[in-house]
Amino acid sequence: MPERRTRLAILGSTGSIGRGVLDVASRHRDRFEVVSLSAWTSTEALSRQVDEWGASKVAVAPGSASRLEVSDGVSVLDGPDALEELAADPTVDLVVNALVGVSGLKPTMAAVRAGKRIALANKESLVAAGGLVMGAAAEMGAAIIPVDSEHSSIWRCLRGTPRGEVESLVLTASGGPLRDLPAHKIATAPLADVLAHPNWDMGEKVTVDSASLANKAMEVIEARWLFDVPFDRIEVLVHRESVVHSLVRLVDGSLLAHMGEPDMRIPIQYAMFYPEVPAGAFAGCRLEEVGALHFEGVDAARYPCFNLILGAGREGGTAPAAAAAADEVAVRAFSDGAIGFGDIAAVIERTLGSMQRSAAADLESVLATDAEARERASGEVERLAAAR
Ligand code: MG
Repeated sequence: MPERRTRLAILGSTGSIGRGVLDVASRHRDRFEVVSLSAWTSTEALSRQVDEWGASKVAVAPGSASRLEVSDGVSVLDGPDALEELAADPTVDLVVNALVGVSGLKPTMAAVRAGKRIALANKESLVAAGGLVMGAAAEMGAAIIPVDSEHSSIWRCLRGTPRGEVESLVLTASGGPLRDLPAHKIATAPLADVLAHPNWDMGEKVTVDSASLANKAMEVIEARWLFDVPFDRIEVLVHRESVVHSLVRLVDGSLLAHMGEPDMRIPIQYAMFYPEVPAGAFAGCRLEEVGALHFEGVDAARYPCFNLILGAGREGGTAPAAAAAADEVAVRAFSDGAIGFGDIAAVIERTLGSMQRSAAADLESVLATDAEARERASGEVERLAAAR
């Protein structure tokens, strides 16, 4: 047994992943303590978490500090660098980055530069700046452990598998909430249908991204950096049951698969305990109850965001950062009812088409691309909304 508990910083603690982290921690109170928590605007839920877990530091959106009800000893940060401060805190052992969107990038980089162990659920960090993040992690001795279920599964399959035996990585995709909709109805799918994910209970942004398969394209980019595997050796399969969370194809033609219930707490717990695997806790997967497993290729014609974002990833430089930013703006506009579901791809395509490309030389150039892409994407949203 370790002599002291793992000290956690949980960025984005009131979201779906953040709550999962606290659920796992509550099952192992002898192993984890919470140093810091953060939320953007859910100050009520955050106040309750701070109270329950005795966190000593907390970060909220600028101007939200006054809405937080916490005891006097808790230090409340609401400045522009608050999340980076929590991520680099020398008293923290494990930084959980469960932030949504490219806003997770700077805190990831702060944790990396501080040489932290990072449980990474914020895929945009690697989509926008994978080369920079992984390069800095290698230099600083920071460990990035994936929380995303697909990557967690691949990580597990690769444990003990010599790299020379790996032919390719195979990410599975549920196909999302719109998988059974006729192709001509996808562009006009209403928000309620888009949010009705058949297998996974996740936050709104990632659920919309699952419906468009933007999420899967981002996960391919994430895998490319996380496992240092070229795009040509990453496959995607649609697998309706979400029981096989991903696979590794070996050079002898065989496959390793990692299976389980679609319960995010399993990959979350794996990242929190890595390299240890604690027993019990979650329901075992009963394949006799699942019955059949189905697999098919991706019909990219149904999901234009998939090829757009993957194409940006393959292009490299600042293109994937621009694509991620445009997707974020478009998904927000769709969630707000300003544009249709089919317009998300249009916003990404037009934003990418209107931007100069450059090398992702440093964090500043990636963030400048992010800001420019947001501005251009917002302009596209306005045009599309006006034309409706
Ligand atoms: Mg995933």
